[in-house]
Amino acid sequence: MNGTKTRKIAAVYVDVAAEGTDKLFDYEVPDDLVGEVRIGSRVQVSFGSRKRMGYVAGFPESTTAPRLKPILGLMDLVPPLTPELVRLSEWVARTWLCPVIHVLHAMVPAVLKGRYQRVLSIPPDGETSVLLSEGESHLFSLLREKGELLQEEALALPGVTRPLLRRLVEEGRLSVEERVGDGITSRRRTWIGPAMDAEVLREAAEELPSQAFRQREVLNFFLKHPEDILLSHLLAALGISRSTVDRLTEKGLLRREEREEYRDPYVDRSFNRSRPLPLTSEQQQAFDAILVPLRQRKDHAILLQGVTGSGKTEVYLQAISETLEMGRQAIVLVPEISLTPQMVERFKGRFGSQVAVLHSGLSGGERFDEWRRIQSGEATVAIGARSAVFAPFTDIGLIIIDEEHEGSYKQEETPRYHAREVARRRCADHGAVLVMGTATPSVETYFRARTGGYQWVTLTERVHGRPFPQIEVVDMREELRAGNRSIFSRPLSDGLTACVNRGEQAVLLLNRRGYSTFVMCRECGGTVECPRCDISLTYHRTNGTLRCHYCGHAEGVPKSCPTCGSIHIRYFGTGTQRVEEELAKRLPGLRVIRMDVDTTNRKGAHEKLLTAFGEGKADVLLGTQMIAKGLDFPRVTLVGVIAADTMLHLPDYRAAERTFQLLTQVSGRAGRHEMAGKVVVQAYTPEHYSIRMAAAYEGEPFYREECRTRKRHRYPPFCGMFKVLMSHPDRGALMQAAHQTARSITPLLPSGTELLGPVPAPIPRIKDRYRIQIMIKYDNHIDEESEWVDALRRLRTGHTDPNLRVSVDREGF
Ligand code: ADP
Ligand code: ZN
Ligand code: ZN
Repeated sequence: MNGTKTRKIAAVYVDVAAEGTDKLFDYEVPDDLVGEVRIGSRVQVSFGSRKRMGYVAGFPESTTAPRLKPILGLMDLVPPLTPELVRLSEWVARTWLCPVIHVLHAMVPAVLKGRYQRVLSIPPDGETSVLLSEGESHLFSLLREKGELLQEEALALPGVTRPLLRRLVEEGRLSVEERVGDGITSRRRTWIGPAMDAEVLREAAEELPSQAFRQREVLNFFLKHPEDILLSHLLAALGISRSTVDRLTEKGLLRREEREEYRDPYVDRSFNRSRPLPLTSEQQQAFDAILVPLRQRKDHAILLQGVTGSGKTEVYLQAISETLEMGRQAIVLVPEISLTPQMVERFKGRFGSQVAVLHSGLSGGERFDEWRRIQSGEATVAIGARSAVFAPFTDIGLIIIDEEHEGSYKQEETPRYHAREVARRRCADHGAVLVMGTATPSVETYFRARTGGYQWVTLTERVHGRPFPQIEVVDMREELRAGNRSIFSRPLSDGLTACVNRGEQAVLLLNRRGYSTFVMCRECGGTVECPRCDISLTYHRTNGTLRCHYCGHAEGVPKSCPTCGSIHIRYFGTGTQRVEEELAKRLPGLRVIRMDVDTTNRKGAHEKLLTAFGEGKADVLLGTQMIAKGLDFPRVTLVGVIAADTMLHLPDYRAAERTFQLLTQVSGRAGRHEMAGKVVVQAYTPEHYSIRMAAAYEGEPFYREECRTRKRHRYPPFCGMFKVLMSHPDRGALMQAAHQTARSITPLLPSGTELLGPVPAPIPRIKDRYRIQIMIKYDNHIDEESEWVDALRRLRTGHTDPNLRVSVDREGF
């Protein structure tokens, strides 16, 4: 070192996915970027012989690297991530054993991973009369001439530097827009407004020659509506051409303005403003419970257990309002499927454009725009599914997780994470309050609340004081004994007839998980399985094919049994199509809307079907789990569950919990309004405690029973688990790898930790790959730096067989 210049070192997570790269690499920050590169900045670096992007995670004092390569470029003027989010990504990676770069990628909108250009322009009110430096005057005069400039062009101007651009952007005098590929990530629209006061306009209108009646019409329009209007709307409203407006702007009577516009997916929707409702005494208590830690800026977690219709959402809204008044921000997580326009409306109606909505239905550009509104501070409430937990707020006061028990809060592909645990972590970092709302908490959350880990607040009454519907459980074995071989029990079919005759509506739920139509031979009992996966093919009646739900394989229905040649083949199980056909047979003329993966795969289809049902265009809404939540239709008075216990046979320790939750949620759908409701639950094992207790509204007894069961069999919340899933096209090679893995890990395990397996996975083969799993159960608190956890971490990439795939998942905290 020459001693006159101190090196500035940046530690970077580089976007490469090879063994041994999940760590920080040091780079030198070039002089012109010192102070510009920050923690959370995206930078370009060279890695090996390639150019890669990376995220800056820190600035170490010294490095062990013999020779530092320089950072080649800074990719954003404002870093897309905050230091808190960078630390959070490290925590997520450590907790769920995945590379940090995967988490960093998951935190930013997908367009930031693409190729892009940065374009500078002057925002509508960005010009000020303050004295300009040399750089500024060059920049602004060129911008006024050309409208916009590439960032590189601007930096080539004398006196224009990165710090100057950043300052101008921060002061709001310059706007910067990122264009990805050839798509444009933001758009500008032309607005027109009066440039003179009413007096002048009126005079001008009178003085116009009579053939200029169109111009007069425009001026009269602005005399009546003096506010700015989109040019396109003005043209459409008056049926005039652009030149008419141009004439008036040339005369200086009207003013035109180009404004940058965020793509707002809700732009064509007007939201009814709503006001806070006076709270019921139960709601008030819940609200107060949130307020105390909120005002103290204390990291605090609350389980808000409230029956369906108890007014949890109103409590959320008022708590958010309080948070915003403190100048802080709020995140609301809802399951993707509940993120309906009605749900969004409740938040937009209260907080207007302060609400940013993040969900998977948005285009890449729309999502980016919503994200930027959060980043720039324009939006202060983020509402969205799982990944909205990473919203780049800097001062979070409140995080709400609605329907806390939902399985979709867990991401099942890398980076695997549980949004609830991430939310807890962010609340700790921000001194924020976490509110977990649900009628049926997950067993883990229930247990934590009961043992004092969370504050537990309950709402036991429905706001409008309506009783819960009566739940009738029908034993389908009895029905069979009585000679009824149909899908519908007598009580359900009678109930349907009566309901429809009264002109009311019914919802029929088919619990599809682990239950579908398959073909079985009555001679030998053989089923038709997918040739590539160890799973029965599903019969699709519409096109008469058998399909595999895992790999998409399709084939025709065999005329005879592929195993024994018998022609006595029949279809078993109950798909939605089959139920629909039965309904048509039993109740001819019945109008049915079917909602399942087949009818809802197109964008917007889900919403369209629900709207049609809400408008009374059908008598029955028939569907899978996707109809169980978030619906609120006043004319629904009957809910039928076709087979409540299909989930109970799945090899999943949550089966009882999920069954209880589903039944409880679905009964909350009936009779929410003036009309009384009824629920009919059909089951083959009605004596199972999850069904019995859901039907009797025995929540507390169910949770106690379930905790006893989990404790006895050692499942979360009484332990934590790592699940190692290995797959390989060669069964022998897989067995060998799995046993070797088990042998190498076992000696490292501390006492109280047990390794189970290797055993075949619940689906032993998918797409010609055999699957084996190993489970490790441990006492809840582990040291993530310990040797055995590190060994698990290295399983994913630490092998040489290119055909072997390993994933590690973690559950139970
Ligand atoms: P939950 O989220 O617990 O299922 P909701 O928030 O949807 O319950 O409330 C159920 C219904 O009660 C909604 O229509 C809501 O507008 C209404 N509601 C909630 N709180 C009040 C209140 N304090 N006064 C009057 N109506 C209320
Ligand atoms: Zn056969
Ligand atoms: Zn298959």
